[in-house]
Amino acid sequence: MAKSILTFDDGACKGCLLCVDACPPKILELEMTRVNSKGYNPVFCNNIDKCTACAICARICPDSVIKVERIESEGSMTKVEQNGNGVGV
Ligand code: SF4
Ligand code: SF4
Repeated sequence: MAKSILTFDDGACKGCLLCVDACPPKILELEMTRVNSKGYNPVFCNNIDKCTACAICARICPDSVIKVERIESEGSMTKVEQNGNGVGV
């Protein structure tokens, strides 16, 4: 079962690949079949089950595109990072 929920502010992504390169399990990639309102291929997660909710992607993104929420237990969720600002842990 996935340990986290990733939310992408799709229209803000500029496809810079910083998060793709920084993600330890390498589960982020650009969606090459689609462009966002800015004309960039936006990032998406190809395997949420491998996400560790480390929030490295959220911290490194210069445009605050990614929100990471850690699922602590069934029905209970703790926000570990929102828009790269290091909210809680
Ligand atoms: S939270 Fe960590 S493991 Fe999950 S997508 Fe971001 S960098 Fe990768
Ligand atoms: S989510 Fe952020 S770091 Fe990742 S490709 Fe888009 S703009 Fe770059």
